[in-house]
Amino acid sequence: MEEKKKTDLQAQYPEQSQEEPGLQSKMIPVPGDGSQTYIGSNRLKGQKAIITGGDSGIGRAVALAYAHEGADIVLNYLPQEESDAQEVKQLVEAVGQKIKLIPGDLREENFSKELIEGAVKFFGDPTTLVLVAGKQQSEVDIRNLSTEQMVDTYKTNVFSLIWLVKAALPYLHEGSNIITTNSIQADQPSSFLVDYAGTKAAIKNMTKSLAKQLAPEGIRVNSVAPGPIWTPLQVVGGQPQKNIPSFGKDTLLKRAGQPSELAGAYVFLASDDATYITAESINVNGGKG
Ligand code: NAD
Ligand code: MG
Repeated sequence: MEEKKKTDLQAQYPEQSQEEPGLQSKMIPVPGDGSQTYIGSNRLKGQKAIITGGDSGIGRAVALAYAHEGADIVLNYLPQEESDAQEVKQLVEAVGQKIKLIPGDLREENFSKELIEGAVKFFGDPTTLVLVAGKQQSEVDIRNLSTEQMVDTYKTNVFSLIWLVKAALPYLHEGSNIITTNSIQADQPSSFLVDYAGTKAAIKNMTKSLAKQLAPEGIRVNSVAPGPIWTPLQVVGGQPQKNIPSFGKDTLLKRAGQPSELAGAYVFLASDDATYITAESINVNGGKG
């Protein structure tokens, strides 16, 4: 723990860039996924979780924590991220849980159905749908914000949420739950993230309406709102390059978070400790705001 704390506090983030969607294995430093530090205690024993964006960053830390807690996993990511996803597969299998990799593009409505049906074929009806995938591209001037970027960002972050929930509902039952991923950007938008911040506000809002709609069926819907977290999203254009070395320094804790520091919130929301929690969003943001 002491060693981990020291590493997080001292982490330096040199300017760096990758093509979207990026690989976390190529980041300097490689984000902390908790694979060496997370200790499970069967809090999700027998659960079956579909996790989008699970190859890297926050989704990867969630997948590893879920496996340590006894859940089997279906992992979605983009085909270009195969090497990151293979690492997750090895780490999950090493703790004795089952995992199936289903790469594919969530901007396609049909793929959402394929993902859910592939998961049901693999492990039966899912208990938890964890939606972490997201697209973020900074653009300092709205005059340069392309329609293509705007449409892609809304399809990835907002439309896919509806498509995936629609596809999953036939297989979700009383006691199952959905977890979405919004952002501090939902309430405190940066000037250079007009399209992205809007999608995160939408997700936070949709989480509440879905929670209201699905409560009568016994399905809980919650969200996690990360602050600045060191992940590929930030080095593929999510931040203007010049912001990377000071990323996260504007929080009360004066540093960016590591993905491993998000996993606990996702574990909690899926666990039996949260059976009376729905329509909620948990902030994990170093006290920013
Ligand atoms: P990340 O790059 O590790 O994860 C994003 C993932 O989204 C990618 O790994 C990719 O698999 C997936 N993805 C993107 N486009 C896709 C598509 N068209 N089809 C399928 N999958 C696609 O970065 P991250 O920061 O861990 O992002 C995870 C989530 O956390 C995102 O929803 C992001 O908005 C949110 N978030 C991140 C931060 C942060 O500071 N890193 C802050 C607030 C919210
Ligand atoms: Mg990735």
